[in-house]
Parts: sequence; C-alpha cells; structure tokens
Amino acid sequence: MGQLVGVLTGMRAQPLILGYHRVVEHFDTHADLTIRPMLISRAMLEKHLDWIGGRYRFASLDELGRRLEEGASAEGLAAVTFDDGYSDVYENAFPLLQRKGIPAAVFVVTDIVGSRVAPFHDRLYLLVAGALKRWRANPEAAEKLFSELGLAHLNGAVTRNDDPLSVMGVLLDRLSQEQAFTVAEALCGEVELSGDELRAMRPLTWEMLREMQRSDITIGSHTRSHPLLTNETGRKLDDELKASRAALERELNTPIRHFAYPDGRWSTLVVDSVKSAGYRFAYTTCSHRDPRHPLLTIPRLVLWERSCADSAGRFSASVMSCHADGLFRLVARCKTNHRRRPLSRAA
Ligand SMILES: [Zn+2]
Ligand SMILES: [Zn+2]
Repeated sequence: MGQLVGVLTGMRAQPLILGYHRVVEHFDTHADLTIRPMLISRAMLEKHLDWIGGRYRFASLDELGRRLEEGASAEGLAAVTFDDGYSDVYENAFPLLQRKGIPAAVFVVTDIVGSRVAPFHDRLYLLVAGALKRWRANPEAAEKLFSELGLAHLNGAVTRNDDPLSVMGVLLDRLSQEQAFTVAEALCGEVELSGDELRAMRPLTWEMLREMQRSDITIGSHTRSHPLLTNETGRKLDDELKASRAALERELNTPIRHFAYPDGRWSTLVVDSVKSAGYRFAYTTCSHRDPRHPLLTIPRLVLWERSCADSAGRFSASVMSCHADGLFRLVARCKTNHRRRPLSRAA
C-alpha cells in the first residue's frame, strides 16, 4: 500500500526533505507556553530519524541540489532541515545528528543570531495567548485596542476566536510585518511575558553556527527578521533576502545557496526576488511548484511531536509512512495563494 500510494502521489521520484523547528528535551514542559507545531522532543526526533534512515539515505542539501540541478534522480534520498535557528537545535539535535552521522541544514533568521531575542512569531504568540485570557472577560478591550490602532477590520476575526494560534495566524496573514510589530507593542502593555520560556527560545550564536558548519550542517537563510514575504513589497523583500545572505556569507565565510521561505509562504513575485538575491535552492512547506523555478520551490514535509504519533502520543510507524509517501498531501490544503499580490500599504 505504502509503495502504491507513493507512486500515485509522485513522491517517490522526489527526495524526502523534512522540516523541523525547535528540538526540546521534554515536549510537555513547553507545550502549554509555545507554538506546539514547532516543537519536537529529542526522543521523538530520534524515532523519526531512525525510521527514515531505515528506508532512505540521508544526504546534504548540497548533494540533493547537485542532483536536482543535473536532472539526476534523487529518489531514495532524504534530508533534514531546521527552521528559525533556535539554540535548542544546537543543544538537542546536533549531538544526535553527529552521533548518527546524519547531515542536516539550519535556516537562520540572521538579525537575531547571537541575541537573546526569541523570533517575533514566538513573542507574538505569547502576547496573543496572554491577551486572549484577559479579553475573554472583557471583549470590549480587544475592540478598543484594534480600533485605536486603525485595525478595526480585524475586530471580528480576533474577538470571535479563542485559539491563540489561529488569532496569531489572522494577524500575520492580514498585516504587514510593520503593522504586526505595532500590534505586538500595544499588547506588551497588557501582557507580561514568561522570561523562562523566552530564554528557552533564544537563537543560535555565530560560534554555534560555525561549529555546526564544520560538522556537516549546511547553513541557509530564512530572511533577516522572518516576515511573511507574500505580504511585503519590493525594497523590504530585497533587503530581507540580500542582507541575510550577505550576513551569513560574511560571518561563515562560505557561499550561501539555500533559502527557506518563512512559514513556507511564497508567491511568484517572492520567487523572483529570491532568484535575484542569488539563491540557487529554496524550500517551501507545500507541494506546489513554480514551473518557472522548480529549484526555488522545493517541497518539504514539516513535522512535529504529534504529527507521527498515535492517540497516546507514541511514535507511529504507519502514520510516518503515510507522511513520507505523501498520502496526506493529497488532502492537505495549501494556505497560500501563490499568485497573491503583496498587501497594499494602506491595508
Ligand atoms: Zn520560520
Ligand atoms: Zn502551495
């Protein structure tokens, strides 16, 4: 069945590229405070890697890229990638990868490398989660805040919703990064963030990146500050793509060829900017391709603690197998309109 499905969905001809975010020691310790679909425990990651390693050969993104460029088959090859550049990847995933001899890649948000600042989406999530608790008792406070910010059109979508992840999704989807910053700033006045959790989300340092780079880890760009590029326009787009690549090349002293779209969001316009910024390979999170630039729209399978687990939370080989064969992609809905125009400045 697995093989037949794989053939039907065309996944067998493609390399299997896995995407992860944070790697923590215990999932439950962090699950209530952070974006769950970005977490995997070290033990669960090891189960994923062992399962994949039994069926595929792990390759570096450079090797995969070379084969794809030459039009050679990448069938049976797998690659492991981590987005956003959390220091817990160095602490929890890197030793595991080294022990097993598995090459991997890390896509970093260059402006926050070496800082103590958690990525913006993590801070926004914590702020929204805290604000929603308060707004439940006082929904008028939310309406007042958004009206004062000139974002009254978001009132309904925010006040009707009880789930921090989907409210954050609405904000990021419908606002430019600059507007989202303004919302976060206003929420800061209402909510106090957990210092412990923010510390747990601190980014990698340049020293960590250099050490990983010396040990089979490819470093790629994930922009300067992680905006959803489909919402941004010309100069901002260019700066996020070019300056992040330049910073990585300067600090790591190597050509940077790989890029991952924040939240997997791409449009044909964004792909054009990625190309002109000099990247050779770019990675998405859905199975659509830009036929003009297939190597700048390489699909990845994004996984987390629960994506290959049974109802008790234990690793399930059969669910993993369905993911690897692309079975779920047949039904998975892509959340991006790839022909989307950027938000207008006045929106
Ligand atoms: Zn990201
Ligand atoms: Zn898509």
